[in-house]
Amino acid sequence: MSKIAYDYMESYIRSKIADHGGILKELEEYAKENSVPIIHKEVANFLDLMINIIKPKKILELGTAIGYSAILMHEKSQENTKITTIERDEKMIKIAKTNIEKCGLNKDIQILEGDCLDILKSMEVENLKYDLIFMDAGKGHYNEFFPHCLNLLTEDGVIIGDNVLFRGMVASNDLVIRRKITIVKRMRKYIDMISNEKKFTTSIIPMGDGIAVTKRRREHE
Ligand code: SAM
Repeated sequence: MSKIAYDYMESYIRSKIADHGGILKELEEYAKENSVPIIHKEVANFLDLMINIIKPKKILELGTAIGYSAILMHEKSQENTKITTIERDEKMIKIAKTNIEKCGLNKDIQILEGDCLDILKSMEVENLKYDLIFMDAGKGHYNEFFPHCLNLLTEDGVIIGDNVLFRGMVASNDLVIRRKITIVKRMRKYIDMISNEKKFTTSIIPMGDGIAVTKRRREHE
């Protein structure tokens, strides 16, 4: 399992979350068969909750893959919510486009093709703003993405980073695999940055592969 929560705990929590039907189920099966990493069931459930609380009108996602989380977030959002999602892998882009089209969501989910960092920079120039930013691409680069994401975030917006505990390696040296050490070191830096900066409040939740939820503090807080 994930090496983040006890297996029995994860199984119990997952058993309490209703299974998806329709296209989401199909995409979950495709992801499993083709080893495409998509968000864990409990993270999907958490995004549903956050969307219900934040009621975002605009969502930015880093890392589209086959479009699963973008389609899920759209399904959980209010009708007029627009989602922009960034992906650089051509094969993934093609599959995601087909899936988004199949759901009739071409107008609501836009894929920006290219590297997250380049695209985030160009979005900043356009002064675009998002109520929710979901980081799920380039685990070793959250540090670099974060300042740009902050500039793209509305005053009360929320940034959710997935995989921040990275199979437990971020929290324990005993679990670190040598070839993943760079990602682990960078992710630790990211967590230090969002945890120590007084301008933000962050909660790290041992769910899925670990998620970090960050929000800007208001002046008086
Ligand atoms: N959010 C998706 C879901 O749950 O359905 C899964 C995203 S998958 C974990 C990460 C994706 O990010 C991969 O498809 C990968 O090609 C893409 N990616 C990784 N680094 C990237 C980068 N620097 N710029 C753009 N895409 C990137």
